[in-house]
Amino acid sequence: MLNSFFPPKCVFCGEPVQSNDFKVCGNCAEKLPYNSNKCKICAMPIDTVYGEKICVGCRKRKPPYSLAFVPFKYSGEVRRAIIRYKFYGKISYAKTFAALLLIEIKKSNVSFDEITFVPIHFLKYGMRGYNQSELIAKYLSEMMSIPCKKLLKKTKLTKALSKLPKHMRFKTVAGAFSPKNEEYIKNKKILLIDDIITTGATSRECAKVLKKAGAAEIYLGAIARTE
Ligand SMILES: [Zn+2]
Ligand SMILES: [Zn+2]
Repeated sequence: MLNSFFPPKCVFCGEPVQSNDFKVCGNCAEKLPYNSNKCKICAMPIDTVYGEKICVGCRKRKPPYSLAFVPFKYSGEVRRAIIRYKFYGKISYAKTFAALLLIEIKKSNVSFDEITFVPIHFLKYGMRGYNQSELIAKYLSEMMSIPCKKLLKKTKLTKALSKLPKHMRFKTVAGAFSPKNEEYIKNKKILLIDDIITTGATSRECAKVLKKAGAAEIYLGAIARTE
């Protein structure tokens, strides 16, 4: 009934689509900037066609997580949709983003005990009204029948990392997160959800904190990654 008044629209281009659970039109499904050539560990888009597909960053410093699932490059319609989702209240995109991420995760045989998400500071939460990574994590939790738990809290209000020079980003997030509900962290295989990965500073820090609190293994999931 509702659909006839508010027909679902593609989250990327706004064209009408059939389903409210997976709002991607046929045209976008074909043309979106898929992250197909990427680092085997952190999913950073790379162009090398030979050798082991491991990026320079991962070679220099192995990430504290085992593997990252990132279906898209942060560009074009994907970038614009994420901006609308994150800053302009388009929370109805969350389920579609979760479904797209699930397709990527299912390409591997990895299993998890729990799902968690990168937290935002409570002041930011108060201003925005939602945590964009948490919404995706909750839908994924439903789709995969794996519990979603808040396992981290953001204790430091940090500046938007995108506005900082690269060398400052790792320093800025150091000590910005602490573990929560530690009984659910110990010896668990945890899927950590973020929205986009830019420098990787935030996800590395979150994974590090979870590892330190006793997690057996961390996997990372995000919608897109910058090149
Ligand atoms: Zn579309
Ligand atoms: Zn890498």
